[in-house]
This record gives sequence, structure tokens and C-alpha cells, in this order.
Amino acid sequence: MKINRRNFLKKASLGAAGSPFLLNSHGNVEEKETGITYSQLDEILSRPVLKKELFSTPVMIEQVSLLRYGDSILCKVVSRDGAEGICVSNDLYMTSLYPIFVKRVQPFFIGKDAVQLEEIMRDVYLHNYKLQGLALWLPVATVELAMLGKIADKSMGELIGDIHQPSIPLYLANNNRGRSAEESIARIQEHVGEWPFKALKFKVAGRMHEGEFPTGRSERLIPLVRETFGDEMTLYTDANGGYSGVEAIEIGKLMEEYNYGYFEEPVPFDWYEETKQVADTLEIPVAGGEQEPSLHNFRWLIKNNALQVVQPDQFYFGGMIPSVKVARMADAAGIQCTPHMSGPGLGYLYMMHFVSILPNAALFHEFKGFNQRFEMECPTSSLTIDENGAIKVPTGPGLGVIIDPDFIEMHEIVKA
Ligand SMILES: [Mg+2]
Repeated sequence: MKINRRNFLKKASLGAAGSPFLLNSHGNVEEKETGITYSQLDEILSRPVLKKELFSTPVMIEQVSLLRYGDSILCKVVSRDGAEGICVSNDLYMTSLYPIFVKRVQPFFIGKDAVQLEEIMRDVYLHNYKLQGLALWLPVATVELAMLGKIADKSMGELIGDIHQPSIPLYLANNNRGRSAEESIARIQEHVGEWPFKALKFKVAGRMHEGEFPTGRSERLIPLVRETFGDEMTLYTDANGGYSGVEAIEIGKLMEEYNYGYFEEPVPFDWYEETKQVADTLEIPVAGGEQEPSLHNFRWLIKNNALQVVQPDQFYFGGMIPSVKVARMADAAGIQCTPHMSGPGLGYLYMMHFVSILPNAALFHEFKGFNQRFEMECPTSSLTIDENGAIKVPTGPGLGVIIDPDFIEMHEIVKA
């Protein structure tokens, strides 16, 4: 394994200055590598995702509409032959980003062949690359996820991959912060309730370096959660970029002591060097990618083994197709993938269809709750959590659910 001399000196000098944390447990400074090359990753990135062979004729898109009712935002796509796709968008941000959708994304899809979806998405990017980030990717994802609706008699997963996971094991994501370790435990227990989850994730640190309150909460909570839920529960933590590299290594070693599964966003997501230093030093896998807006940056993070678990978010990262490209690169590098699940609505269904096609799926996947907003039917899954803490993926066309038409009818067309 090659040692980068500059990093060696940097790490060695930090060690000499009294911060032993940037050395791994063997006292070495070797970088952990995946062995994958950039040319291998580039070949993977060049492969198409949407299975065009499933379509014998073009699917011409006649109508793309953004619809709104209060804070609920939907995208409806209708083909010339009457095939229809609906996306329940992420309203947390789309209530601000709808002008980008209407002015800069929607026009690229109307009158086009849905089978050429990837080519259309590349065109959208070329005309909007200066907006790269959630502000662009969420509107793109909204139309992409609608396009992958009922345009063929296939589930969303089958349109973009082969089914590896017919049922998705879940972890419960708890967002509690700002309370003592003891109060936090009570809230986490209440959240888990009677559900048979086998895995749990909770927050540590203060979000993006805002400082932790109360001080010392995470150090107390990490052992306490293990003691409370026992050795059989898989535990993850999420720092939301709350630590410096040195702090992350210190708290990461505590997680290792209590056998935690992974450590998510130990440092701010765009601190790439520090992320890699933390990952190189710790034994516990480092997870990240929910904020990552760039496929090229994912390529660097994967090649350099800066993350051992990648977490693209289908909404924040422009849809299923770019997320699959991240998952494929990770798979080739021996890295696991599990999506970050954003927001309410049908986030868990998009998560499930994405995970269904992953050969390199992590053991458990993020769950933040069921849809409470509208009625829907799902003929192919009960959409309930079974005794193993898993949900069966619907197998019907598109998302596999039928949303109450009266709910859709309440929405009005959005104009920027
Ligand atoms: Mg997170």
C-alpha cells in the first residue's frame, strides 16, 4: 500500500503536537484504498441505467405539470398514449424551488421521448450546471421520478435494474437533539415504541459545527443507547457534519468500543480530506453522501475510500438514475450503499424501489415514517413493517401505489 508522503508528514506532525487521533489503532498512517481505478469508474459511469430494451416504441411526453395544494407538490407526466406518472415531491424545498422547475427544467421534457430520459437529463444539466446542488437536483428528481411512473408495466426498480431485495430491512432514524442523554434516551425509546426494528440511528454532535447542547451529550448517549437497546440492535450515529477531524476520531473510537455499525457525516460533507483522514484512522465505517451534489465528487470519495457507505438521496441528487450510478461505482469498489431518505410523503417508497436493485445494499435502510397525508392503495404490498423490521417492496407498475384521485384533483397547476 502506497503511503502519501505529504499526508504522512501532516499526520505525523499532528501526532507529535499531542493529537494522537489521526493515527490508526496500529500506529500507522497508511491510507486505506479500494484498489479501483478512475478508468474503471469512468467505464461504469458511461453505462446507461434506464432499460431502453423494455420499450418497443417511443413514449412521447405530451404533458408535464407541477401541481400544488397547500404545501403538497406533485408532478404529473402524461404520455401521448395516456400513460401517466405522478411524483409526490419533497415539499420542504419544492415550495421554494418551484420557479426553477417551471422555468429551467420542465420545458426540456415536454414533447420528448421518455425512453431518452437519460439524454434529456444530460441536456438539462448542460443548460443548468451553474445551479448544481439541491436547488437544481430536486426539481430534476421530481420530474425524473414522475417519468419512471407508470410509463411501462414495470416497477420503478425493474426499469433501472435487477431486483436483489424484494423486502427492505429498515432502521429507524431518530432526529432528537438538544436534550440531555437521559431525556434523549426516553424520546428514542418512545419513538421506537413497539415497532420490531433491528436497527436504529440517532444524532450526535451539533449540526454543522453549531456546537453540541448540552455539552457532553454524545459521549454519554453512545454507551447509554447500547446499554438500553442491547447487543442485538444495530446502531448508527449521524453527526450532520458536527465535528472537526480530531473530534470525530475521538468520538468514533467510543462508537467502536460499543460496536456501532457506522458513523455518518462525522465532519461537514464538503471537508473531503478530513472525511478521508477520519475514515483512514477509524475502524468503524464512515457513511456520507446525502448532501453531495456532484457525481465527480462521489467518484473521488469512492476511489479514495473516503466513505465506506455511500448515501445518495434520490431527491437531493437528481433522481434514481444518478443515484444508481453512485451505487454502481460503490459496488465495484466494495463499498455499501444505502439511500438517505428525505422528507415526508412517499420518501420511504422511493427509498424502497432504489434499494430493491442494489447488490451492495447496506444491512438496514432509513425509515422516517409512513405517508399520513392522503389515501392510497397498494395491491402488491401491505406496506407494513413485518416481524423482522422489514417492508415488502410493491411490484406493480411505477411506484406500485394508486394515489387517491380526489387528493390529486385538489391540486392546481403551478406557474412561476
Ligand atoms: Mg444524515
